[in-house]
Amino acid sequence: MKDMNVLVINCGSSSLKFQLINSKSEEVIAKGLCERIGIEGGKMIYTPAGGEKQEKEIPMKDHTEAVRLVLEALTDPDTGVVKSLEEIGAVGHRIVHGGEKFASSTLITDEVMEAIEGCNDLAPLHNPANLIGIRACRELMPQTPMTAVFDTAFHQTMPEEAYLYGIPYRYYEDYKVRRYGFHGTSHSYVSHRAAELMQKDYEDLKIIVCHLGNGASVSAVKNGRCVDTSMGLTPLEGLIMGTRSGDLDPAIVEFLCNKENKSVGEILTVLNKESGVLGLSGGFSSDFRDLEKAYRAGDEAAIRTMKGFAYRVAKYIGAYTAAMNGVDVICFTAGIGENNPLIRTMISSYLGYLGVTLSEEANAGRGEDALISTPESKTKVYVIPTNEELAIARETVALV
Ligand code: ADP
Repeated sequence: MKDMNVLVINCGSSSLKFQLINSKSEEVIAKGLCERIGIEGGKMIYTPAGGEKQEKEIPMKDHTEAVRLVLEALTDPDTGVVKSLEEIGAVGHRIVHGGEKFASSTLITDEVMEAIEGCNDLAPLHNPANLIGIRACRELMPQTPMTAVFDTAFHQTMPEEAYLYGIPYRYYEDYKVRRYGFHGTSHSYVSHRAAELMQKDYEDLKIIVCHLGNGASVSAVKNGRCVDTSMGLTPLEGLIMGTRSGDLDPAIVEFLCNKENKSVGEILTVLNKESGVLGLSGGFSSDFRDLEKAYRAGDEAAIRTMKGFAYRVAKYIGAYTAAMNGVDVICFTAGIGENNPLIRTMISSYLGYLGVTLSEEANAGRGEDALISTPESKTKVYVIPTNEELAIARETVALV
């Protein structure tokens, strides 16, 4: 393995998350976050490995300013982790939407920047922010190679029957309206790790990955290729999520517009920000720690919400078992998948037909790679903590 430090950047419209990862040890050397970029109340959080977390209020007028602060923190003589910018060998950028143009990660060139810009209308909130992050880094580190790692790329192997919607075909031809899927870096990382843990060839397995975080999606990986995933043109489709509705009858949109005297845009905001487990619980919480506590106390809203969430995941597992004509291993990952044994039990209770039995003891663990099914379980079930930053760093090293 090459020995280089890779700066992984995840840029949002007013935030920037970063990690500096050494490619050989795969350890995080430093990490942090800039918040409220371009708005009042800017804040930077920086944590060097083995050092103390630092928080400072500092205005950042734009993303270039934020990147400059990050680079200053990393090279600070007292609390920095590298002597100079030359010790940062490459920068890997997380990009949300690569449309049909990108089926894998790529080195960033002017042409690549243009192609990413070409995907802006598919992710109008995210891609422009990602591009700003790239521009800021290129300005300050013009000699450093940079890569774009796309959330959508892993799912580009989906067959037509999985990615096309049942709408006039010309909408696909004219506007590229189709299913793309997201969380690709996580689904790829976790499915590869499952094969490793099982000591089997990736190409020989049928894998279902349940990425259950605030945003949540399921994917089906057959013989080394993603064949289906639950998010669609946007991340709104599929599972019931923290605040997103997931699948619903599209006619509901007009119905609610009329009933509530709201615009389509307003209802979509409800579906993105006020729905999911937050909405279903009557506004109680989008956080599964709160929901679980209330569930255990017998709270009706929490019970219906957790049941609804688990049922939807189980339905997708069933659908993807059908899509792949079987399944060898089911993986749970992300905040809820890694840390919530109760939800894993509730989902698995639907999977008797797959011969799934969970080991109560193994399932009680949290946050580390673990086989949680019993030795007799016909289909294996794993918890595999995702690590999107490490996956981006690995892709980056492979490309430079
Ligand atoms: P995001 O999509 O924002 O990255 P996460 O993957 O962090 O989301 O998942 C957030 C969810 O994970 C929350 O519902 C939270 O309750 C749950 N979660 C995160 N960490 C823990 C933990 N240590 N114990 C229990 N639940 C957790």
